[in-house]
Amino acid sequence: MTEPDPTWEVVEETFDEEHAATMATLLCVGNGRVMTRGTLEEGHVGDLPGTFVAGLYDAHDVAVTNLVNAPDVFDVRVTVDGTRLGMQSCEVVEHERRLDLRTGVLHRRTVLRDAGGAMTRLESWRWASLADRSLLAMRLEVTPLGTQRTAAVTVEHVLDGHRRNLDLAPEYPPDAAFGPQTVWDKWTRARHLEHVGTEEIGDVLALMSRTIERGVRLVTAAEASVTGPSAQRRSVVHGYEHVEERLEWEVTGGETIGIDRFVAVATSRAGADPRQTCLEALERAGTLGYDAARADTEAAWARAWEVCDVVVDGAPDLTHAVRFGIHHLIAAADPEDPTVNIGAKSLSGEGYKGHVFWDTEVMMLPFFLHTLPDTARTLLRYRHQLLPGAREVAAAGGHAGARYPWESADRGTEECPRTTPDGKHTFWMREEELHVSADVVYAMLNYVDLTGDEDFLVDVVAEVAFETSRFWASRAERVDGGYSLVRVMGPDEFHSHVDDNAFTNELARWQLRRSADLADHLSASRPQEYAALARRLDLAADEPATWREVAEGLRPPRIVDDVVEQFTGYFDRLDVPITEWDDNDMPRYPEGYHHFNCEETMLLKQPDVLMLVLMLPDLLTPDQAAASFDFYERRTLHKSSLSPAIHAIVGLRVGDPSRAVRYLHRSAFVDVHDNQGNTRDGIHIASAGGTWQALVFGFAGFRVADGVLTLSPWLPQEWEALRFSVAHQDARLAVVARRDQVELTLHGPPGSRRSVRVWDVEREIGVGEPVVVLRDS
Ligand code: BGC
Repeated sequence: MTEPDPTWEVVEETFDEEHAATMATLLCVGNGRVMTRGTLEEGHVGDLPGTFVAGLYDAHDVAVTNLVNAPDVFDVRVTVDGTRLGMQSCEVVEHERRLDLRTGVLHRRTVLRDAGGAMTRLESWRWASLADRSLLAMRLEVTPLGTQRTAAVTVEHVLDGHRRNLDLAPEYPPDAAFGPQTVWDKWTRARHLEHVGTEEIGDVLALMSRTIERGVRLVTAAEASVTGPSAQRRSVVHGYEHVEERLEWEVTGGETIGIDRFVAVATSRAGADPRQTCLEALERAGTLGYDAARADTEAAWARAWEVCDVVVDGAPDLTHAVRFGIHHLIAAADPEDPTVNIGAKSLSGEGYKGHVFWDTEVMMLPFFLHTLPDTARTLLRYRHQLLPGAREVAAAGGHAGARYPWESADRGTEECPRTTPDGKHTFWMREEELHVSADVVYAMLNYVDLTGDEDFLVDVVAEVAFETSRFWASRAERVDGGYSLVRVMGPDEFHSHVDDNAFTNELARWQLRRSADLADHLSASRPQEYAALARRLDLAADEPATWREVAEGLRPPRIVDDVVEQFTGYFDRLDVPITEWDDNDMPRYPEGYHHFNCEETMLLKQPDVLMLVLMLPDLLTPDQAAASFDFYERRTLHKSSLSPAIHAIVGLRVGDPSRAVRYLHRSAFVDVHDNQGNTRDGIHIASAGGTWQALVFGFAGFRVADGVLTLSPWLPQEWEALRFSVAHQDARLAVVARRDQVELTLHGPPGSRRSVRVWDVEREIGVGEPVVVLRDS
């Protein structure tokens, strides 16, 4: 048994209706393929159960494709002497749930008293296997308390296909608040699953559904085994959208009934037979048994944590929040499936309908790249798989090549809604937020630069880089002898229809140059593969030269007093000061302003020019970066959870650490403190990636420059040390950074060596030869 450690746990100590939906997000268990929200097994007032399967999208009878809310995997009802146990039907005597971030196991312990005064203890442990990703499991124990009694206990474990997604809110004012009793009733419900059938295969119950519009088959199958006293009766009830097993006992008080239940979930998306996939997963689990299967998932989590953990000595609350985010990053990605990606809320809720944004490439990918590079590669392959969709998006806009959609699901075509549900405001991102295509190429080339994976360069990156370069070349317009990208939206979504957004232009320039270089490199180093690709893409010999021409001709930003102008004419907009901050220390909209009327102002939703300081650190001079930080930071409202982490990093890079800890906290605590007020819709997973970047790139000053692992830590007084690891090819560098020294240990094959630079001191480090670098040494 590992010792309880508050930095490794998410704890719910009482059941609180008001916060139940938020806790359901915080207590999700998942493995990148399937994730299930932490609603109570038996349901409760205000619950919104959700089990989400990566890549399972549907668009039946809705304006916007949804990540399907699939049958709940932990739906279990316990009846004792005629009372179905629950938080509303009984008095709650004790209740506690703990998600162990280290192992991914959610433990619940509840004691309930029924109307007759009899008490029962419920305990459950639930998890999604990181070792066998089609598999989830639950151990349930029910103990009627009091020795002077006998109790009739029924346990029904259910597969219920009657699931709906929330959709299209009726028109309520945006700040309308409804209590937990009614909160979800105010939504309309979208149906995506049709019932196909139920089946009993030995002890396995299976529920077969199909998505209505996409036609994907979904199978959820469960197998339970009784571990304590044998059940006296067993029956199976089949119904429309429903199959359940009912087990009944007569026990004496104090006796514990036990059930171990495995659930398998699979779809036909990848061409496999989902029924067969489920049966095989249950077979494997049954052979192992609950304890061994749990040991396997715990071992997989331990391997992930070995390289992913980040600890801030002296700041346990921060360490907790950081570990929470890292846990969710690990639980969000499936390294085995290149056809799926991480949605803006991972698989933890219906927010953003499960759509994938630039969040993956820009906010999360650096984490995976430096900890779990195989997962990074799989995430990047998703974009390659969906290149046909990106070609459609480009063609729909009348352009050549491929343009990635602003919001992506399973087809790679545009999934961004056209308007707000009330139709009053247009989302211009779908037409104008072009930078995502360059972000994808940026992330891919970063992966190759770090890993040296030349095969990936040939098999994946080249096609994506060339096709998106074609898009940029055809989208750029000739203006005044140069090139302009007109009518775009940068990352700051308060400003639409702008020309020459500095971020978009510079990223496009960078990608066009790198793509042309790549064409040269491959034609020399892999001539046959290059020729085959050129044939397939019908790539003319002079196209790379055109990319270079556009790259060099793209209009550079105007710079006034070292401040980079966000887009042409930005400096002429109205300068509205931010004067108020809320209890979470987040800026409030100035009087009269809201999300949709900041166009004419200089107010920013989130960093735009400052993203350049993060992503292209050598582009601006130190003075330009510092002046731009100072200028834009004062005008940014942080209405995206992506914003604070970037401000922490950029502040540190430009030598202004004064607000870095404050920004780090805003990012790290976004979900554990619910500081955006919408954690119930799902985890802010991009923010988790941003928090990691803020610590590793920001506070530790980590970069890989020309193969040299570079660190220049800056730690606030209240921290004793910052500990983390970074994977580098076949080795892993463990770092303990303090204000005055850095300790480094290299793990990897014997004989491995790396060059490191710490506060400008160059050193060599080998496996088994730890290095300590003192500041000013
Ligand atoms: C932000 C985008 C982000 C999206 C999904 C929006 O509010 O402005 O930058 O990609 O949320 O997280």
